[in-house]
Amino acid sequence: MTPFPSLTPISRAGDPRCGACLTGTAPTCGAPALWHIAWTLTQPGQFSLLCGKHMDWAQQRFVYADRHPATVDCDMPGTGWLIATPSRCVMAPTTTT
Ligand SMILES: [Zn+2]
Ligand SMILES: [Zn+2]
Repeated sequence: MTPFPSLTPISRAGDPRCGACLTGTAPTCGAPALWHIAWTLTQPGQFSLLCGKHMDWAQQRFVYADRHPATVDCDMPGTGWLIATPSRCVMAPTTTT
């Protein structure tokens, strides 16, 4: 008998999906995201999750401030962009706003 219940991770959050929406009426892409893009790192930042196809598309048209491979952490509630080399998403310190 173990002191811990057997928990199965639930992949509700932590499933980063491409949010590309090429026109105002098109459905979002929804493919598994490969890249996490920061368009600007000036507060408040603007971020996107993009699949490989839309990363190519965005690179041809837009300038972004930073990017890193999308991970489960990118889609977790409460995480924020850590400006570093390389950047990554971490749990935001609870002391900031
Ligand atoms: Zn996409
Ligand atoms: Zn991220």
